[in-house]
Amino acid sequence: MISKLQKSLTDIRCSHAARALEEILHQSNANDDSNAEFLVKLLDCEIYHRNQNRLKLQYRRAFLPCDKDLESFDFSFQTSISKRQVNSWLDFIWLDNRENKLLLGPSGVGKTHLAIGLARKALLKGYKVRYFSMDELVDEMILKEAEGTWKDWLKKLLKHDLIILDELGYLPIDHRYTHLFFQFINSCYEYRSIVLTSNKMPNQWGRYFGDESAAMAILDRLMHHAEVIVLNGDSYRLKDKLDTLRQASEKFPDSSFPLRSKKLSDSQQS
Ligand code: ADP
Ligand code: MG
Repeated sequence: MISKLQKSLTDIRCSHAARALEEILHQSNANDDSNAEFLVKLLDCEIYHRNQNRLKLQYRRAFLPCDKDLESFDFSFQTSISKRQVNSWLDFIWLDNRENKLLLGPSGVGKTHLAIGLARKALLKGYKVRYFSMDELVDEMILKEAEGTWKDWLKKLLKHDLIILDELGYLPIDHRYTHLFFQFINSCYEYRSIVLTSNKMPNQWGRYFGDESAAMAILDRLMHHAEVIVLNGDSYRLKDKLDTLRQASEKFPDSSFPLRSKKLSDSQQS
């Protein structure tokens, strides 16, 4: 009887339930469950595993470069943003409203960490997410245009609810392709949400894109429905090295280190 039931479950594509059948049956017998209770447990098992598999697939399709989460973000080190502010984003109303988040600031202040942490939460909520670093996005756009598949590619990309665009400004962009980037931003405008991270302040975008009016048009669309967060402070990457660097700067007062540490600049002045 059990193997017949397992086969039927497999035939109707409930393979998780088929695999767990014996165990659930055993548990239900031990608990004296009713038939309905047994059936609920069996279906819950199938649904749970399907959801888990869907989530794993969406994670893979998001192409996140690493596993950063919001729980490991140290808000006492990065005080330009509060935990309460980030938690308030987790209802994802801004995403449903097609709004953007722009995380701006120098290297190492946690922009990518926050963006990926947010992406993971969105995935858990069932949103479709796609991550690109700016150079990956531009390379892909150039390739798709050369192949003549740009429009199809864009259409497919716009099926995602959230696009993470990381590290705009770190590497120079070939100005011949600024127009492709504009088209991409224009297609997302009021239609899809973007979380963008950049080390360039908006007044530097004209030079970055090699075209003031294109940069304005891009910024205009990105910022219209957006929250802009400027993260300041020292690089978290250098957190444990600050004391060493401070000692070095005391020893060699003429050398200038590229640090914004208050502690360091204080000690340089004294
Ligand atoms: P950015 O994108 O601003 O250059 P990242 O987000 O890549 O910086 O951060 C650099 C490294 O420091 C990463 O490993 C990140 O996880 C870590 N990091 C940065 N800020 C924090 C923070 N406030 N709490 C915990 N880890 C942090
Ligand atoms: Mg980064």
